[in-house]
Amino acid sequence: MNDKPAISNPGISNLQAIDAAHHIHPFSDMKELNAKGTRIIERAEGVHIYDSTGKKYLDAFAGLWCVNVGYGRKSIAEAAFRQMQELPYYNTFFGTTTPPATLLAQKIASKTGGRMNHVFFTNSGSEATDTWFRIARVYWKALGKPEKTQVIARKNAYHGSTVAGASLGGMKHMHEQGNLPIEGVHHIGQPYWYAEGGDLTPAEFGLKMARELETKIDELGEDRVAAFVAEPIQGAGGVIIPPDTYWPEIARICKARNILLISDEVICGFGRLGSWFGYQHFGVEPDLAPIAKGLSSGYLPIGGVLVSDRVAQVMISEFGDFAHGYTYSGHPVAAAAALENLRIIEEEGLVERVRDDIGPYFASAWKSLEDHQVVGQAESVGLIGGLQLAADKSTRRRYAKPDDTGSLVRNHCVENGLIMRATGDRMLASPALTITRSEIDEVIEKLGQALEHLRDTVK
Ligand code: PLP
Repeated sequence: MNDKPAISNPGISNLQAIDAAHHIHPFSDMKELNAKGTRIIERAEGVHIYDSTGKKYLDAFAGLWCVNVGYGRKSIAEAAFRQMQELPYYNTFFGTTTPPATLLAQKIASKTGGRMNHVFFTNSGSEATDTWFRIARVYWKALGKPEKTQVIARKNAYHGSTVAGASLGGMKHMHEQGNLPIEGVHHIGQPYWYAEGGDLTPAEFGLKMARELETKIDELGEDRVAAFVAEPIQGAGGVIIPPDTYWPEIARICKARNILLISDEVICGFGRLGSWFGYQHFGVEPDLAPIAKGLSSGYLPIGGVLVSDRVAQVMISEFGDFAHGYTYSGHPVAAAAALENLRIIEEEGLVERVRDDIGPYFASAWKSLEDHQVVGQAESVGLIGGLQLAADKSTRRRYAKPDDTGSLVRNHCVENGLIMRATGDRMLASPALTITRSEIDEVIEKLGQALEHLRDTVK
């Protein structure tokens, strides 16, 4: 490969003008963005990204929770380049495959603990959501229960932006755009103890929220419910880490009521919690699990659905032709990049590193932020952290304008060269699994400065 730039770049102000004229951005207020000018990211290395002014940022968010092996991995680029020369594209429809697609399915299955031995490939987490949604309904129909079609999800969840994804997600502002959710989708509460736990202990609250599932099943009728979906740790909703009592009770209810348990592993998969998959961390056994992001560390778009043996047996013996698929399902170049990404995670022991070394270091550094007056709670698992801002930590009173306080802290961080994300009054971190101790120290220091700024600015 030579050193020619990837594209010819017309310069910052030209690019911003072209962007304003032609590019509609996801999850962005376009009027505001065009007035201000888009931030242009040009290159990246390790945990750092560089914008077009040359400013360096520590990306404590791994892109969008996805660059698990860090930026600048030449071996992934080389694997993609080689595959592109050999076979840039072929599909997996109509009884065909390519070597990378098949080998990737085998590699992923080998990390699931022996019970999710099958993979259906997609290009994204959203498509993975649509895929399991259809599988769940066809599964019950194939078993002679066509009336089992209703799906239960959670408020404040995020499962993607397609119509099924946005419906299953519990984001009010997404539902308001486009008459969502679609028919057949229902939501129960989230295990967000800090805001909603009242006088209950976290353990009591975890059980209470899990039992909302049982109540909802009773309300809808067990014979009509196909599945329940949740993220092991709710990510975009604010890194909501459930109390320990929550997941075992959810698993018990799904089993007792014979409904499929779907674990959305799009963020929690591929090492983020110090386990290959989030369900392993919480000790539960899902029937289906959408994956994406860390599967390729974002180097190329690829996702999929892990299918348990229980469901796969029915798909294979009863579905006949499952009329579902994407032109790029199992794309050979994306699959080759993902295989190399998984090789790196495996050979560098990144999952174990998160579990035994850098995760515990991050946990105690993150927890130390609770010393700040404006922090109500700072929790983490592995390398995902959620920090609750509080106007009065002694009473768990929150700020009157949660979105404003979160943005204030996030903007201070970004100005100061640290990429963080805010959901309302929660600050979220999800760095590359390769982040070093000194880089974590820098995250804590810069976030600490932003928290002091909040303390001094909002009374
Ligand atoms: N599920 C979860 C838990 C996610 O966090 C996301 C994206 O952030 C998705 C699904 C959708 O994935 P994608 O953006 O690749 O469509």
